[in-house]
Amino acid sequence: MQYRVDPRNGNRLSALGFGCMRFPSNALGRIDLPAAEALVLDAVERGINYFDTAYLYRGNEEALGAIIADNHLRDRLYLATKLPHANCQTPEDFDRYFAEQKRRLRTERFDYYLIHNISNSDQWKRLVDLGIEQWIADKKGSGEIRSIGFSYHGSHGDFANVVDAYDWDFCQIQYNYVNVNYQAGRAGLELAASRGMPVVVMEPLLGGKLADKLPKRAVEVLDRARTERTPAAWGLRWVWNHPEATVVLSGMNEAAQLEENASVAERALPGSLAPDDLAAIDEVVRIFNETDKVSCTGCNYCMPCPKGINIPGCFAAYNSSYALGWYEGVKQYVLSAGAMSNDPRYASACVACGACAQHCPQHIPIPETLKDVRRRLQPAILPPALRIASRFMR
Ligand code: SF4
Ligand code: SF4
Repeated sequence: MQYRVDPRNGNRLSALGFGCMRFPSNALGRIDLPAAEALVLDAVERGINYFDTAYLYRGNEEALGAIIADNHLRDRLYLATKLPHANCQTPEDFDRYFAEQKRRLRTERFDYYLIHNISNSDQWKRLVDLGIEQWIADKKGSGEIRSIGFSYHGSHGDFANVVDAYDWDFCQIQYNYVNVNYQAGRAGLELAASRGMPVVVMEPLLGGKLADKLPKRAVEVLDRARTERTPAAWGLRWVWNHPEATVVLSGMNEAAQLEENASVAERALPGSLAPDDLAAIDEVVRIFNETDKVSCTGCNYCMPCPKGINIPGCFAAYNSSYALGWYEGVKQYVLSAGAMSNDPRYASACVACGACAQHCPQHIPIPETLKDVRRRLQPAILPPALRIASRFMR
């Protein structure tokens, strides 16, 4: 494993971090604990020592806590989790959530603790007014928090304000080859590094869009450049090519993915991509931007929808209709809506209640975008035709 040093404390962090949010799940949508445990054990054996979770990832802290405790791994890894700051309305809430996180993760200390998704300095100011600076100082003084940071999904322009609002130990940003000027972007990465902060990168493959969901034309460009490198390896190598990226989180949920990512991490040193590699990526970005109409990463933060709409499924189908053709998009849409079931949930069921959009880190106007999905993928004849067809098939 390649290790990169945290300049604030000298920790040697594995260049590949384990993003636990995408732990494998079972048929009921719950975390598949034995499968997740096997992955974590394999990751530790391969030298991965940075594990990232959050209070808001449903069932995730409990699962990771059980795996770490049952296998006596706590002293072999750096543990990162996040405070759900928007849920904190009183100073006592900081302690309440923190105590629950310690219980769930079965630990007395967090090596890396983040304020989850601070998007502008007004959000930080609200927390300062609640006394968070003294609270952090107390937790650092007691050793329960070793490094304090923030994760960020705000605008390009606000990033510097958040960096300057506090003496952070580290930050976590979204960064990949199609998001160079989006959210913190390259300017944010370089700014944080110039302040001596280690940077943890999330979404290096944009929720898999830069791995197995790349348009065919883009894959052909990459294959022509180097036959032996998969799209996922290209995407990860591009991020590791930046010396400012300390840890790159990958949400691995299969053994083969873990094996490939760990093997790429060993070789992907800063500055190791050749000029013709970078030219191939530029061409892929051009093709990707032609087909990626909705910037959904499939993170599920917006779910569940009270009307039962599979929001990320709708957007994936919509993008597929541009990348892979209209029929493929409709096929995916029909499946994601459960159109052949007794109770299908089409995009047209949206009542614009707004419960979803406030949680979207990509700032997608979800109800409006679902109207685009309906217009493109749901001709008026589709629901009644499928209703009749499903009766015959039962
Ligand atoms: S706005 Fe529409 S998609 Fe979003 S939660 Fe409400 S009904 Fe569901
Ligand atoms: S719409 Fe937004 S919150 Fe929902 S899955 Fe996509 S990126 Fe995540």
